Amino acid sequence: MSASDLHDIEFRSVTKRYGDVTAVTDINLAVPKGAFVALLGPSGCGKTTCLRMIGGFEQPSEGDVYIGETRVNDLPAYRRPVNMVFQHYALFPHLDVENNVAYGLRQQRPRIASDEISRRVGAALEMVRLSGFGRRRIHELSGGQQQRVALARAIVNKPKVLLLDEPLAALDRKLRTDMQMELQSLQRDLGITFLLVTHDQEEALSMSDLVCVMSAGRIRQFARPQEVYDRPADLFVADFVGKTNKMTVTAEPGILRLGNGATLPFAGPERGPAVLALRPEAMRIARVGTGDGPLVGHVTHRIFLGSLAEYSVAVAGVGEFLISAERHGLDANDLIEPGEAVSIDYISEAIRLYPA
Ligand code: ATP
Repeated sequence: MSASDLHDIEFRSVTKRYGDVTAVTDINLAVPKGAFVALLGPSGCGKTTCLRMIGGFEQPSEGDVYIGETRVNDLPAYRRPVNMVFQHYALFPHLDVENNVAYGLRQQRPRIASDEISRRVGAALEMVRLSGFGRRRIHELSGGQQQRVALARAIVNKPKVLLLDEPLAALDRKLRTDMQMELQSLQRDLGITFLLVTHDQEEALSMSDLVCVMSAGRIRQFARPQEVYDRPADLFVADFVGKTNKMTVTAEPGILRLGNGATLPFAGPERGPAVLALRPEAMRIARVGTGDGPLVGHVTHRIFLGSLAEYSVAVAGVGEFLISAERHGLDANDLIEPGEAVSIDYISEAIRLYPA
């Protein structure tokens, strides 16, 4: 089996410059067939540039882009088996839903018979749960419905790959969550490769099979969501995906030495100065007297989140920790007040160390 049997999209050493600006540098990425992949990173890191090079709206300055086994560097956008959905759906306001979805099919040469077009438009509208909305004008639809029309238009000509550039960014939170689930089901039903650009880490973690974390034009990690969260490749990823407590430590045999001279038991092989990263939910907080964690501090701030409470805890000579405590709603006395003295424990297997 050749690599192209397994991969729908491949970047081989791709660099893209716009004049003096290098948007992406030496990108190597192989997207498995039928996967839902999220490109995640802060504004300006090069996500959209990658998508546009697949779509055919930009050409690489160096390197090659493959779709299946075809090198597509010089292939015009309209000849690529991909479609793109944008944040601003770019629907035609003067056309009804059906004609918006049919538009691309009507442009195709050789011509497609009109009953075939109707059949495909009907099927696409059914996929996005908009059957019966064909005659509606675009302005008579909600934001979520408009987004689904844009999706129907993008899948109606059966692309191999669907590119989604922040397609949910304009929707409110509730609608976003609904649409996230719908997109996942749609991808499963269609069985085609989805590549989603987002700067929202929750969206990336919850929707995709694989997350590609980017920063400053480079890929920092490409892995399953759980792997990215549990074993961030570097401190950038640890910080960008989820919340992380960071602290400078010195690793010695059996212990980590902290700023105030305190030590924590540690079984890892690392030695010397390092930065420790620990997730807030891997730490435990208890009122002094009721817990016996190795660090003692006091609560400086509390954020109540219903099922969770997040505490900032200052430990003298060491620093401030963010600790997230799950609540079960059984104990009326479970919330700790700012100012209270607490002890801190942690799950030592959750400690990650990075070069200082
Ligand atoms: P955002 O989340 O804000 O959309 P992004 O991660 O998608 O950001 P890109 O749009 O790919 O980032 O941009 C990457 C870099 O390339 C940025 O520094 C951007 O300013 C630059 N850039 C993008 N398009 C052009 C262009 N047409 N001309 C010049 N510079 C560009």
